[in-house]
Amino acid sequence: MFDYVIIGAGYAGSVMAERIATQLNKKVLIIEKRNHIGGNSYDFKDENNILIHKYGPHLFHTNNKKVFDYLSQFTSWDIYNHKVLAVIDGKEVSIPFNFNTINDVFPETLAKKLEEKLLNEFKYNSKVPILELKKSTDKDLQFLADFVYEKIFVHYTAKQWGMKPEDMDSAVTARVPIFVGRDDRYFNDKYQVVPKNGYTKIFENMLNHKNIKLLLNTDFKEVCELQEDGFYLLDNKFNGKIIYTGQIDELFDYKFGDLPYRSVDMKFETIEKEYYQEAATVNYPNGYDFTRITEFKHIHPIDSKKTTILKEYPKEYIKGKDTPYYPIFTTENQTKYNQYLEYSKRWNNLILLGRLAEYKYYDMDDIVERALEVFEKEIK
Ligand code: UDP
Repeated sequence: MFDYVIIGAGYAGSVMAERIATQLNKKVLIIEKRNHIGGNSYDFKDENNILIHKYGPHLFHTNNKKVFDYLSQFTSWDIYNHKVLAVIDGKEVSIPFNFNTINDVFPETLAKKLEEKLLNEFKYNSKVPILELKKSTDKDLQFLADFVYEKIFVHYTAKQWGMKPEDMDSAVTARVPIFVGRDDRYFNDKYQVVPKNGYTKIFENMLNHKNIKLLLNTDFKEVCELQEDGFYLLDNKFNGKIIYTGQIDELFDYKFGDLPYRSVDMKFETIEKEYYQEAATVNYPNGYDFTRITEFKHIHPIDSKKTTILKEYPKEYIKGKDTPYYPIFTTENQTKYNQYLEYSKRWNNLILLGRLAEYKYYDMDDIVERALEVFEKEIK
């Protein structure tokens, strides 16, 4: 009845389903544990008629035209340049830490000197990760690095990950670099947009096809089983390809141990005023138990006397209870993941794809790019 079974209806699963259905004219069953599609980019209008992102702020940005063009088949867009402020010493300054921030927090002469020193060592409009800047031998740049590390990174990272920046994969803190220039947008990519009618609509449009059957509210283990000799769908051997986008440790019943994740408590609040804060997101690197507050009206503007905000409280992930938001990158965890990956190769019709199945910190554009590539190389 089906040529492919896909587990998970986030980006990885939905892009694959759409490609297989439309390009190969093959039949796909897509099984989703949640009561909705769209994975963590699922959004909906709340009681204030404000479009909110249930699993935290999702801002689409990419340099990849292919990805942008692909998604543009399923939505039109609003141009949206994400701005983030951080509260340091009681003052709101823009991050990534850039020349504007330097001028906001330091006296004019010191700010000028720091700008010059940065330009001596790095190219104009380049991004310098904090852990790189900390290696500088110039004493003024060392001062700057220590300041930014202390005020922006070390306590935020402790809240977000329960770790020190230097004990983690350097790519994580490099996502929010020091920007050697005046661009104070959170991202510098060529395309920075939000879908006009929200992310969920993109997924509805992708999955609305006669070749795609969607099963919501269904844990894949209720209908499928992976046995030594193959994959079973409702007790029948299934010889087509299986694309699994869930947690890899769960797929194999945690046989090599649990893979750790970081979770977040998302707490939404209605505020009885038109706007709550100056920017879409304000980070609180120091103090408080939450890391940041997002106000959705800045992302999808609407006339309303009320506003909805989200406070994010990071926490340890507890299996079976919490949402696994982020894989945690340590050598030990990567080794465990590799054991699962090796083991998975026994099933030659099994494809692992996405943040949870590949234990990778994919952004939205990254996973769309990866899914398109896997479709071309391993399916088509
Ligand atoms: N980060 C930080 N202070 C900030 C913003 C980010 O220390 O004010 C670090 C932190 O370790 C965080 C990482 O940079 O996990 C990546 O931040 P990003 O905003 O990209 O995280 P995401 O939106 O994916 O949660």
